[in-house]
Amino acid sequence: MSRHRTPLSQTSLRPPLAKTVCDRHKSLNLLSSKPVLAHKMEKNKRAVVTGGLGFLGGHLVESLVADEYEVTILDNGMSARDEAFEYLQASSVEIIDHDVRRPFPSSGAFDEVYHFASRASPTDFEEHPVEIALTNSQGTENALAFAHKHDARAIVASSSAVYGDPEVSPQHESYPGHVPLHNERAPYDEGKRFAEALTEAYVRKHDLDARIIRPFNVYGPRMRLDDGRVIPNFVTQALASEPITVYGDGTQSRCFCYIDDVVRGVRKLASLPTEEGRGTVVNLGRQKSIEIRELAETVKRIVETSPEIVYKPLPEGDPSSRSPAVERAAALLDWSASTTLQSGLKETVEWYRDRIEMSSAQQR
Ligand code: UDP
Repeated sequence: MSRHRTPLSQTSLRPPLAKTVCDRHKSLNLLSSKPVLAHKMEKNKRAVVTGGLGFLGGHLVESLVADEYEVTILDNGMSARDEAFEYLQASSVEIIDHDVRRPFPSSGAFDEVYHFASRASPTDFEEHPVEIALTNSQGTENALAFAHKHDARAIVASSSAVYGDPEVSPQHESYPGHVPLHNERAPYDEGKRFAEALTEAYVRKHDLDARIIRPFNVYGPRMRLDDGRVIPNFVTQALASEPITVYGDGTQSRCFCYIDDVVRGVRKLASLPTEEGRGTVVNLGRQKSIEIRELAETVKRIVETSPEIVYKPLPEGDPSSRSPAVERAAALLDWSASTTLQSGLKETVEWYRDRIEMSSAQQR
């Protein structure tokens, strides 16, 4: 899809969600884009994606654009990185500088609202707990109210965090979770739980066509270098031949799911007819688990460096395992995660390698 750059004044041609566009995006020439009213084809669907400059949201936007959606991103840019939206330069999305904790300014018609905004990095849990709690509570209310007002379908990104430190494995969608209320992760974990409860309330009270995904440990290209989650940490450490930091004794385990698989699952869920999809909650994850100490060895093998492994204290509330039950996704969506950890990690390592080389070339 070709991209037309439109001066700021012309954006009024398109029904704007907000008047402001952040300077940063303007300076990167990412301000939308095609003169929608001039040649809008009725068949093109319109979607709002909150958090569209983030990791998951950004990949989702890319997929929607590839299917000729007209996409409006609502994002305050606070946890985005330049690399997260460089790829948007080739597309025709509209980017609005908007914090979802405020009601969405609205006009025009929308078919789908994807609520994917929220800081999700462990490094943010300490620094931005209030913002995280409110993005997932007030922000979700604003997203749902917006979808309701526009008679649009809502797809809400929850998280495997709703299961907390689970006492059963794997975690079926019906498992209520085992979630400590008073630790550093609580604003995120409880925020996601509240987001789900509120979504269900909208389904019951307003008959809203809303659906919920629970992704499990998603990874892939375009995660922030300083994201703080385990795969970005291990990959950047191994590429720099710096010690790999394993927290605790490394016997805790996770199931890692490649970003393309998750986006495919999101899109499948979003495309279910209302009678099948409304009110659905579905895990999106890969069932094969790996211990974190084994993950460290795997990353070393793929990167082909041999840094030492150093052991650091386990963060507060760190779950000992998480593992998705995937039957519902298989039955409802005919979906499973097809990317092996080996091949997903290879793609991820290559992206980080290029990104780091590019940054050091720019600094020279
Ligand atoms: N972890 C680690 N070293 C790191 C970063 C994370 O050992 O440098 C561990 C972390 O303690 C957790 C696991 O890796 O047990 C997954 O952490 P992540 O933050 O990626 O995901 P989550 O804990 O939310 O599942």
